[in-house]
This record gives sequence, C-alpha cells and structure tokens, in this order.
Amino acid sequence: MSNPYINVELRRLVAHRADYICEYCLVSEVNRSSGCQVDHIISVKHGGSTTADNLCYACIFCNLQKGSDLGSINWQTGELVRFFNPRRDFWGEHFQLIDAVFNQSQILAK
Ligand SMILES: [Zn+2]
Repeated sequence: MSNPYINVELRRLVAHRADYICEYCLVSEVNRSSGCQVDHIISVKHGGSTTADNLCYACIFCNLQKGSDLGSINWQTGELVRFFNPRRDFWGEHFQLIDAVFNQSQILAK
C-alpha cells in the first residue's frame, strides 16, 4: 500500500498544474472559502499511489462528495459508473453546464 502522505513539493505541483481550480467542478480556489486540497483520484485504500498521475486538485465539496469511492450506481439504470478521472478523461465528455449563473461580484472581489 502506498503512503498517503503528500509532500509539499507534490502538493505545489498538483495545484500549479490545475491552475488552482478544482479539477472536478472547475471552480477556482479563490471562489471557495475553504479553498482546495490535493485528492487521491484512486484512494490509497483501493490501491492508488501518491504520485502526480493519481493526484488532482479538488475543492472541499467535490472531495467530500467523492470520498474514497471509485464510482457510483446510476439510480435510473442500476449501472455502476466510475467517477471522472482528471488524468484520463475530458471534462466536457463527463459534465455540462446547465443554467449556469456567472456572478460578476466574484470577479470584482479579486
Ligand atoms: Zn469542486
């Protein structure tokens, strides 16, 4: 089992690579009061490694929703669906914005 500890250099690499936005919801860490954190895409308990190719930058909301899970059951089809992997998948093939509201005050607050 890989050591789950993520050293400072690796944390900086992952944050910089993601341009300081959550790789799941694409919200910038400056727009999250709780910021973002480095997430194991495949958790250590499921055999994931603490290496750059298995780490992503995630806001607390996404990280808590995902937890250590690898996927979920589609309640409509009963099919097991694996979660989005920012290292392997394209965001636009997994998600879409519907009725998104852009709040200009967030930009003015920078
Ligand atoms: Zn997020």
